[in-house]
Amino acid sequence: MLKQEKAIVVFSGGQDSTTCLFWALKNFGEVEAVTFDYNQRHRLEIECAKNIANELGVRHHILDMSLLNQLAPNALTRSDIEVKEGVDGELPSTFVPGRNLLFLSFAGVLARQVGAKHIITGVCETDFSGYPDCRDIFVKSLNVTLNLSMDDHFVIHTPLMWLNKAETWALADELGKLDYVREKTLTCYNGIIADGCGECPACVLRKRGLDEYLSGAVK
Ligand code: ZN
Repeated sequence: MLKQEKAIVVFSGGQDSTTCLFWALKNFGEVEAVTFDYNQRHRLEIECAKNIANELGVRHHILDMSLLNQLAPNALTRSDIEVKEGVDGELPSTFVPGRNLLFLSFAGVLARQVGAKHIITGVCETDFSGYPDCRDIFVKSLNVTLNLSMDDHFVIHTPLMWLNKAETWALADELGKLDYVREKTLTCYNGIIADGCGECPACVLRKRGLDEYLSGAVK
């Protein structure tokens, strides 16, 4: 796509952002990754991200965002808060208010420091949870705000925005990285790498998508 340009990927070491990292490596001349440490319940998430970035030879920034956990305790950081899907239009207990607002804003500041014009995030509106800060309109709005705030010309890319989980697996396969993403990433809320615990909402979603993709339902 833009082989002369530099991109920064918001990278958690999970299925989605790892697929985005491969997408970025294919489309941009130079790629760096940024991981936010907000005291995730599973420290393994950061280790996973580190290992992947290292293996792929991608410069990796890890930024301390423990402030987020201090402000908004949630099921992703506190083991005494249960992971629950929202009922009757409520948000799930895994929702972290302001997370993508802060992550993308800090990614913008970092992008400016390292001279990257492109910011890539794996957020997805098709996401089962309906997080408001995963919506396309939010990302577009923040893109405008970031550019105004720094008088810059960033472009936020969201390659997964309209894909369901099966289609995200299809994209990984198209990039030649299906097995890599399957074996090296961590999505599970119980901190088990690859196929995970098989029972938490993240594992159920990941497996359902994979089964759907492998059964040939995605064209
Ligand atoms: Zn799990």
